[in-house]
Amino acid sequence: MIIFKKSQDIKDYILREKTLGHKPGFIPTMGALHAGHLSLIAKARANKMLLICSIFVNPTQFNDKNDFEKYPVTIEADIEMLENAGCDVLFLPSVDEIYPGGPEKAKGYDFGYLDTILEGAQRPGHFHGVGQVVARLLEIVQPHTLYLGQKDYQQCLVLRKLTELMGLKELKVEICPTVREADGLAMSSRNRRLTESQRAIAGLIYQCLVSIESKQHAGDFSVVKKECEDIMKAKGMTPEYVALADAHDLTILENYDADRPMVALIAARIGEIRLIDNILVERH
Ligand code: AMP
Repeated sequence: MIIFKKSQDIKDYILREKTLGHKPGFIPTMGALHAGHLSLIAKARANKMLLICSIFVNPTQFNDKNDFEKYPVTIEADIEMLENAGCDVLFLPSVDEIYPGGPEKAKGYDFGYLDTILEGAQRPGHFHGVGQVVARLLEIVQPHTLYLGQKDYQQCLVLRKLTELMGLKELKVEICPTVREADGLAMSSRNRRLTESQRAIAGLIYQCLVSIESKQHAGDFSVVKKECEDIMKAKGMTPEYVALADAHDLTILENYDADRPMVALIAARIGEIRLIDNILVERH
């Protein structure tokens, strides 16, 4: 695996590889890698891509300073995992490489409605930062395919919109299913910060999502939502939202709607750790 730290170097390398007929598949990450990240790499490998991974903990997407400072950094273990996964190229830039002239000068994008709900509402400025960093990374890497995890459902829609706003019509975006622990907890770099007792209850988020799906025929979402909030609170968690939305455009739904594709989404805090998860509400 080749490690690049300079934008120009990786850009030149990828352009050369493209002339040889190789297709760059890009997996942007913030490191502290786990099996969820590796599933994106496996997908890109199955698609016979030139595997490009980036690790960059982007300061501009953290609305909470404490969360940024405590974000896990495990770079040596990450490099070993990427080597073992057959990653071809790792981009490991500094803040200056990503934001020459400072983050204030980086181009911002307007995601409209998507930035006003759920994660957008709970974390002001978060998607602005996500848009800044991914736009910059896409300009540098110019991938054939961008691999994203469904775990961050709203982010997937935001980034699809980003590619439209950037006019990247040729870029393919592949969304890969969420990888979970045995109890259903979605894998996340932040899970490492959970204490043993916090970890023991964290699977409840997924159980609540499953109950939202399984109770769709009973009718009233507000009742199911209240049940989920109460169960989480009873275990000492703080739910930020328990929501049902149109899976295409994230219109918030007050109730189940059999005529629309639906997604259920939850954000909850356990102590100071904030976790998010979602599932598509399949009709059966
Ligand atoms: P992050 O390092 O958290 O920014 O995540 C980098 C990419 O990995 C994003 O596209 C995430 O959605 C994806 N990802 C994170 N966790 C998982 C998971 N448990 N399953 C699948 N993809 C994931």
